[in-house]
Order: sequence, then structure tokens, then C-alpha cells
Amino acid sequence: MRSISILGATGSVGEQTLDLVRRNSGDWNVVALTANSNVEGLAKAAREFGARIAVVADERRLGELRDALAGTGIEAAAGRAALCEAASRPVDITVAAIVGCAGLGPVMAAIEQGGTIALANKEALVSAGEVMTAAVAKHGATLLPVDSEHNAIFQCLQGGRIEDVRSITLTASGGPLRTVADLSAVTPEQAIAHPNWDMGAKISVDSATMFNKGLELIEAHHLFPIDLERIRIVVHPQSVIHSMVEYRDGSTLAQLGPSDMRVPIASCLAWPARMDTPMAPLDLPAIGEMTFFAPDEARFPATKLAREAAEAGGAAPAMLNAANEVAVAAFLTRKIAFSRIAVVVESVLQQGDLPNAPRTLDEVMRVDEDARIRATHLLEPA
Ligand code: NDP
Repeated sequence: MRSISILGATGSVGEQTLDLVRRNSGDWNVVALTANSNVEGLAKAAREFGARIAVVADERRLGELRDALAGTGIEAAAGRAALCEAASRPVDITVAAIVGCAGLGPVMAAIEQGGTIALANKEALVSAGEVMTAAVAKHGATLLPVDSEHNAIFQCLQGGRIEDVRSITLTASGGPLRTVADLSAVTPEQAIAHPNWDMGAKISVDSATMFNKGLELIEAHHLFPIDLERIRIVVHPQSVIHSMVEYRDGSTLAQLGPSDMRVPIASCLAWPARMDTPMAPLDLPAIGEMTFFAPDEARFPATKLAREAAEAGGAAPAMLNAANEVAVAAFLTRKIAFSRIAVVVESVLQQGDLPNAPRTLDEVMRVDEDARIRATHLLEPA
């Protein structure tokens, strides 16, 4: 039996992780499950999997959670501190699947235990890059990438030595708006209707703006010791190749598979072994063709902004991430147009007085808060 905690258990990645645990229930002992406010979903999962503790971030929901778990013996807790306490309980693997920088504190709490963390929560790594990677080294933790592209790169890197890598290529589907001519009238419904992947609302919008690929560029730079200029992005609308690694002899290794997050999640859960998933075998004749395009940064400037933020380093990636989170939330609640998302992010980054490079978790959170205030001001009508 291996023990597992899932941070963000009620989300898209969290539920797909639980699906794999359910299919192999004899192998897993569930310790902590967490959510933001979805008490019903959290309590249902905690009961089904016999979790030891269920935590809801929204403290006002604690009473409801206690009622929903009454008589089960499952501990109920609420609030940010409880989330970090649950994340710090020793387990064989923690799946970090909270969306946004809100997941950073719990991820750091898991890292400080020196455990294995399957990281989906890319915003945490983008915001806290150096702080998080230093903590991983200090505490002897292991970060396994859940993001399908980084998981693909991680797998392809098993085929050679890092010093022999010439470049890595992140593939991007291009999102649902790649071929939409007029981006000014895009609705949240259109933006979250991803052609290949079924994901949470925030990452779906990020995929439509290409900020997802921008965040992934920064994520790749922290996960793999490769210079930024050797990390490329190519649009591949079929999402069959999940990313590639090119070696110095001209060999390029790619990982292929269905557009189903259970594949990279399973790869992390079983690593370094493999486990069964319900995936059908890859049917290349049915796929028929694979196409590739250069990203169109004139229409989707997010990858350019992210590359510039990564090159600037310091506080810039955390500012980019926070401004994007604020702008995406405003777009989803119809406060701003789709095309304003990148404008808000760029405007925050262009303000001349960026904070100093954060060196601690608290400093990252202060930079994040500062950028949220700046971005929120930009949402108000002039
Ligand atoms: P979802 O929105 O579907 O789920 C987010 C989870 O985090 C939910 O459990 C939610 O709880 C919880 N949560 C949200 N806000 C907070 C908060 N402030 N404090 C504590 N918990 C919170 O997101 P996804 O599963 O789509 O994405 C999760 C992460 O994985 C993201 O970083 C995303 O970029 C990354 N990722 C996702 C992929 C996908 O296919 N979905 C693919 C690759 C990466 P509640 O349900 O109560 O709101």
C-alpha cells in the first residue's frame, strides 16, 4: 500500500487522480483530500476513499464539512493553515492540483517534508521558481511533472543525458481560438471549449490566450536545467505529441498519447514503474495526420510576454502569473473582454517599479499580492 494526498481533489486533475486510485484501490491509502469550497464533492470523495482528513480552504464551510463527515471518523478542517498542515503530513506521494498561486503554501509544506510531489499546479512553480527549487534541493524532495508537456519531456529525458540535450520543444494545441478571426467578441463559453482537453475553467482560458504555454515555458525552465533560448514552442493542433527533446546527434525523442490527463498522472503515480490505465491503444491511422505551426505571437502575445518575464527573472514571473489570474477571473465573470487579458498582464509588467526578486515564500506572496492590486486597478474603467 502507498499513501497519497491530493491537494485540489475536487478539480479536474484531482478527480482524474481519484479515478486512477479507484481503479487500483487496493494499492492506495488516502491521507488528505482538499478543496476550496466544494464541500459536497470533497466529503463524497473523503467518504468513498476513507481519507484520514478533509480540508476546505474556505473557513465558513467548516460546519457543513463536519456535518457531511459526521460519524465517519474522518477529520474535518478548514482554512489556509489547515491546508498546509494537511499537506505536511508524510505520504508517499502528494498530488498538487490546486489551481493558481493559492496552491503555493500547501505545495511548499509538502516539499518541506522531503516527499515526492506530483506537480500539476504550475502557477506555484512559476511564481516561486527559485524559492521552490531551492526548497526541493534543501529538503531532498522529488518533483514529478504532471503537466502533460513536462511529463513528456521528463519521460524523453530518460533516453539520454541532460548535457547532450540540444533543445526541448513544448507542443501547444493552439486552443479553441487559433483559427477564430475576431478575438474581440470571444465569450467565456467559447474560450473554455477546448478542442482536445477537458480541463478546469482557468487553464482552459489560459490555453485560449496561450498564457498556458507561456506559464509552461517558465515551468520548463525551472524543472529542467535548459537555457530559455533552447526551449521552443510549436503549435500542434492534434495534441498527439505532448512534447519533444532533441539531442546533439540530431535524434529527437517525443512522447505520444491520448489527450487524457490520466496518462501523465499515472506516469507520476507509478514512477519509476508503470501502471495500467483505461486508455485505448494509440491508433495512428485513425489520427491520420499531425501538423505543426509556429506560434502567432502577434495575435496571441502571451508566450512572448512570458519569455520576457522569464528572461527578466526576479519578481517578473510572479507578477505575470498574478496579473493573469486576476485578468482571467475578470474575463470569466464578464468584466473584461478576452483581448484585455494580455493587455492587463503586459501593463503590470511594464510598470517601472517592480518589486525586488523574492527570496522567501512570504516575499513571493507579497509580490503576488502587489501584482493583484496593480492588475485590479487596471480593470477599472479609466
Ligand atoms: P480546477 O479548477 O478543475 O480545480 C482546482 C482545484 O483547486 C479544486 O479542487 C478547487 O476546489 C481547488 N481550489 C481552487 N481555488 C483554491 C484555493 N484558493 N485554495 C485551495 N484550493 C483551491 O483546476 P484543474 O484541475 O484544471 O487545474 C489544477 C492545476 O493543474 C492548475 O494549476 C492547472 O494549470 C494544472 N493543470 C491542469 C490540467 C487539466 O487537465 N485540468 C492539465 C495540466 C495542468 P473547489 O472545487 O472547491 O473549487
